[in-house]
Amino acid sequence: MSPFAGSVLMKTINNKIGGKLYLVPTPIGNLEDITHRAVRILGEVDFVLAEDTRTSNKLLKHLEISKPSYSYHVFNEHHTVEKLVSQLLAGSRVALISDAGTPGISDPGFLLVRASIEARIEVDCLPGPTALIPALVNSGFPCDRFVFEGFLPHKKGRQTRLKELLSEPRTMIFYESPHRLLKTLIQMSELFGKEREASVSRELSKIHEETIRGSFENLVEYFTVNPPKGEIVLVVKGEIKRKKNQDS
Ligand code: SAM
Repeated sequence: MSPFAGSVLMKTINNKIGGKLYLVPTPIGNLEDITHRAVRILGEVDFVLAEDTRTSNKLLKHLEISKPSYSYHVFNEHHTVEKLVSQLLAGSRVALISDAGTPGISDPGFLLVRASIEARIEVDCLPGPTALIPALVNSGFPCDRFVFEGFLPHKKGRQTRLKELLSEPRTMIFYESPHRLLKTLIQMSELFGKEREASVSRELSKIHEETIRGSFENLVEYFTVNPPKGEIVLVVKGEIKRKKNQDS
């Protein structure tokens, strides 16, 4: 590493200015999953930025925290980032939460994190609930290496994204809506092969939580008879490379 790159790195580590941005994960279903630290930080910050203030107000009320909360969602994040960075630079301590899970994971957060880092504001994402990790571990597929694909595009670019994953050897994780699951399973079955194994985790941490595992063929059959409901994570086993002499 050049001495110049080193000095930039030192600056990044040492010269934090202003207040602090916390990304606070919130439960994906079961309210018991909030961490002690998340509760403390939500109680300490100057204000909370929330994807939906009605949802966050319910959570804050449940935690007996009285705190001003303001909207921060996909429709206003672009034009509010600058103002928020100014408030952080002026010393505000701010918590960003989403409706459920970890902010920034298929939810708003990335823009504000990037802008804060560029402005040398300290950023701290607390560990906590997110849907992808329990779904991955519940699948029983290798979880030493995995790829998170989030939501697939609905139309444009969908086939391209799927084709890019054709020979992906790592376990793949997708977020999916219940009314699109069957279509996705059929599409993946055609592309990856009906024998490829997958796992569907539904309503994680909630009363009707379940994980259904099987080949795409089994899963298509199952969800045709039992239309899926609730929130869903689809996990697909990676491609197992055959040895050359097995191919012949
Ligand atoms: N930020 C969240 C996280 O950290 O997981 C994800 C937010 S994204 C807008 C919502 C999607 O996450 C849902 O459509 C579903 O795919 C997944 N999800 C969230 N909660 C879930 C749950 N309890 N069970 C299964 N999937 C869930």
